[in-house]
Amino acid sequence: MRCQKSLLIVGLIFSALTGCNQSYSQVQQPSPASKLKVVTTFLPMYWFTKAVVGEEQQVELLIPPGTEVHDYQATPANVSAIATANVLVKNGIDFEEFLDGTVKSAQNSQLKEINASANIESLAGNPHVWLDPVLAKQQVANIRDGLIAANPENKANYQANATNYIQQLEKLDTEYKQRLQKYPNCTFISFHDAYPYLANRYQIKQVAVVEIPEDQLSPTDVQKTINAVKQYKAKAIFGEPGVDNKLLKALSQDLNLTLQPLDSLESGKLDPQHYFTAMQTNLKTIESACK
Ligand SMILES: [Zn+2]
Repeated sequence: MRCQKSLLIVGLIFSALTGCNQSYSQVQQPSPASKLKVVTTFLPMYWFTKAVVGEEQQVELLIPPGTEVHDYQATPANVSAIATANVLVKNGIDFEEFLDGTVKSAQNSQLKEINASANIESLAGNPHVWLDPVLAKQQVANIRDGLIAANPENKANYQANATNYIQQLEKLDTEYKQRLQKYPNCTFISFHDAYPYLANRYQIKQVAVVEIPEDQLSPTDVQKTINAVKQYKAKAIFGEPGVDNKLLKALSQDLNLTLQPLDSLESGKLDPQHYFTAMQTNLKTIESACK
């Protein structure tokens, strides 16, 4: 009789594969709340979510570290990951454009999306809010609240873990404040428009963002940079870590400025503590550039 009941194609295939005694309802049951499948988009979202979720539970990352996050193209594996997930954590502010089509393709009506930037006012639509420890706190709190809503039975655990991470972010904020207040309005040039929130928070100034395609600086970019250095009396030129840009190096030498790497944290180690390591390195870099 049980076999006759499962007339759905899925049921038939399943029965054929496993025999009639297997309960069809096993495949239909949503995963238990304690085994929530959480998927995150890119590294900072992974760190913040993993920090709240804790050690016992797995969190997946859609964009592998080292992959260009801006203009990321989704893979079929990303679609399957979202199709079987309970929760998807994203930065929002239109950062993860690849999600629109991917979430649609995944056809997961049970999926709960957490927008980590909910209630954060964006600066000209710039997505890099995670680089400001104060806004990062808000992102962690948003992720915590979203996870509690999705899995209330684990509330105490999420709260305790989030509080712990938020305390570390508060300590980091205090340190940034104390160490950068000596350099009010220190002006820097960046080649990745990633630092408006950080600059805003600690009263330093990002001017003349020259977006360079990989390692090509056009004569116009060079001229724009030279003009900006002169006009704003820029103290520093910040490049990206791991990108050896000969043109940029030569240009900074001509301008008598050191080219220093500043990390947008779009790449790095999986450990949630890496956020603090990288932000400490950035603090040292900014401090030494502004001196
Ligand atoms: Zn970026």
